[in-house]
Amino acid sequence: MGSFFVLLLLNMSRYADIVLPVPLNQYFTYSVPPELELIIAPGKRVYVPFGKGRKLTGIVMKLHNIPPVGVQTKDIISVTDMDGTTLLPYQLELMEWISTYYLCAPGDVMKALLPGTLRPESKNEQKAYKPKTDPFVKLHHSISSESIDETISGLKRAKKQQEVLKKYLEISEFNTADGSFKAISKRYLQGKVESVSALQALIQNNILEQYDVETERLISYTGSIVEANTLTESQERAFAEIKESFKKHNISLLYGVTSSGKTEIYIRLIQEQIKMGRQVLYLLPEIALTTQIMHRLQQIFGNEMAIYHSNCSDIIRAEIWQKQLGNRPFSLILGTRSAIMLPFRNLGLVIVDEEHETSYKQEDPAPRYNARNVSIMMGIKCGAKILLGSATPSFESYANALWEKYGLVTLEERYTKVGLPDVTIVDIAEMRRKKYMKGAFTPQLINAVNEAIERDEQVILFHNRRGYSSVVECDDCGWVQKCTHCDVSLTYHKNVNMAVCHYCGKRYPIVKNCPECGSNTLNQRGYGTERIAEHLQELVPEARIAIMDSDIQRSRYQDIIQNFQDGKTNVLIGTQMISKGFDFDNVSTVGILQADALMNFPDFRALEHTYQLISQVVGRAGRRNIRGKVILQTRQPDNQLIQMLSRHNYRAFFNEQMNDRLAFVYPPYSRLTILTLKGRSAKDVEQIAYRLCQLLSGLFGEERVLGPDAPMISRIQNQHIRNIVLKVDHKTSYLKSRQIIDCAIQQVKELLVQSGVTYYFDVDPL
Ligand code: ADP
Ligand code: ZN
Ligand code: ZN
Repeated sequence: MGSFFVLLLLNMSRYADIVLPVPLNQYFTYSVPPELELIIAPGKRVYVPFGKGRKLTGIVMKLHNIPPVGVQTKDIISVTDMDGTTLLPYQLELMEWISTYYLCAPGDVMKALLPGTLRPESKNEQKAYKPKTDPFVKLHHSISSESIDETISGLKRAKKQQEVLKKYLEISEFNTADGSFKAISKRYLQGKVESVSALQALIQNNILEQYDVETERLISYTGSIVEANTLTESQERAFAEIKESFKKHNISLLYGVTSSGKTEIYIRLIQEQIKMGRQVLYLLPEIALTTQIMHRLQQIFGNEMAIYHSNCSDIIRAEIWQKQLGNRPFSLILGTRSAIMLPFRNLGLVIVDEEHETSYKQEDPAPRYNARNVSIMMGIKCGAKILLGSATPSFESYANALWEKYGLVTLEERYTKVGLPDVTIVDIAEMRRKKYMKGAFTPQLINAVNEAIERDEQVILFHNRRGYSSVVECDDCGWVQKCTHCDVSLTYHKNVNMAVCHYCGKRYPIVKNCPECGSNTLNQRGYGTERIAEHLQELVPEARIAIMDSDIQRSRYQDIIQNFQDGKTNVLIGTQMISKGFDFDNVSTVGILQADALMNFPDFRALEHTYQLISQVVGRAGRRNIRGKVILQTRQPDNQLIQMLSRHNYRAFFNEQMNDRLAFVYPPYSRLTILTLKGRSAKDVEQIAYRLCQLLSGLFGEERVLGPDAPMISRIQNQHIRNIVLKVDHKTSYLKSRQIIDCAIQQVKELLVQSGVTYYFDVDPL
């Protein structure tokens, strides 16, 4: 016994590697004072000194006995988590994986994914998470079952108090045999009794006793619970196939056309997991726009489900987090990308709905992670299965399914068996030549809108530019109004009568005369959603139009969706925001105003994204009994993509595109990493970019390094930008490629510091 104790002491960890919320690419080693040795553990939060007089909360990654070389370690001040840890062991691994794979600082990962109140920067902020409590009442502890009758009769001169006491005993179903009772909140009892002051008097007289009960702040669902729908035959088959494929694969792709009822299948899968006592994470690209799915799931799962996204208050997020760590966690979490860091003790299934969606990728700031990919890693670490679902899978996922790395389940028919919409391609160039165009509308589209409205049906119009017009241009000299901080032309917003930079948000007054030549023939060119709506109102006076784009405040989304659902509006004009899973019964007609700008975007993924986006918008039409009608306006009616879109032939499109991907060694035949350099001096940025390119070419091979290139918009907020693109071979592990990249960066470290040029990585950019 004695020697065992000595051994234990010798094995005590003297050092802790800690993640701190700072953007430095390292863990920080601190020494563990003897009084904390028994409390500290990986995953716990600790409070430490950092720099001059600063103190920070960090997370213990690892405990060890290796003194760091050449530095004097400081002592940890205190351990914040007395019992239990804030992060589970698999989450520590996941955090480390994210920072290694996405080439970013562990502190950035911690900051992005941990709710603010769980990572206070200073002790003062540690007001942090406190459970919410509500006052409850019960019989005072001095009163026993036997003495109740006596107490009641003792109150015969205080009739009101007697009434309240009797009422309490009745509502609480007080059992005189064993003293058991139902917990009753004070507020509830107040609502049931005649006199609130009598209740107060009972408490003062030590007949009733007030006590605090921890309650949930989490908005609880009070609506009705419904049964899940019975699956159709083909849904039933897909459901069985998914389970079968999970026997062989950890990851499966459900490729089901729009309105095939994927949500219904997810619901059945979730129910099965819950029955087995396991938890499910259901990821959505966006919550505010997908309230329909949220309500559907709430009706089925009620308060077994919580909703977690970055617009939830910090308090709510911390509360869900704590509940996940407790002994009665939620069975189902419906969340957006940040939900991947929530702790799960018993995760059985991850569902990634609309897995092709680019909103799963965080663009800025670091960590620039893709929640779909991280959720796969997370699922595997938790021993859970992962189901990706889409009507237009990402090329990566579809390729992985065809290459049998993932299981593949296909659902080709719509729930109602009504065919996919009938797509009519209309040539904008021809209509313009014939002078049939009315603004951005072809006669075919105007007719279709008119017909739908006459039949009391609804219309969705897709246009991928917000604002009024795209540019203000001088007819005489060709001058275009641009942002003074960014290399971007401005967009005119009529509702605020300003020209706006869509990159930095800066607003400019409208100019009357050309600053170059003085001419007053300035023209608004191009169309934004505002102008489309204005035009349509003139062309179709009966239209009741709503706009849905990112100029609309998030808080208004729900109203806009509800009004359209209720038929208060009958035309919805929107940007890509309307492509995310809307399910409206009465939409018969969809118009795509202009497919070309999307297709012409200079990026190898432009066509993939265009196909996915348009095909999702097309899928909003005819979701019930009548086949939908789509008018697709384009200048390139013969383009392969347009042709395949109109025939709903995703597979043909995929196959054709994959030839190009292979020829140019683009994903999914390689992994891309973009290295971006930014600085105030174009010359410095350029010079370092060239040097890095040389170094990386030497290390990866010349054919795998592209650039340096100025991106399409090469100056944003006065920072000059250069990009280097790495095409990393599949066979090179991410650890190896990270080593190589670190090595190259090391060699220009001094140049970077001297010039103030900064850099960051975007791994698997979209
Ligand atoms: P998807 O996600 O594949 O586009 P949804 O799951 O949104 O399709 O289903 C489309 C519509 O059809 C929804 O309104 C849904 O309630 C309905 N639906 C799908 N399957 C069934 C079913 N088996 N029974 C009743 N309604 C269904
Ligand atoms: Zn001019
Ligand atoms: Zn700008």
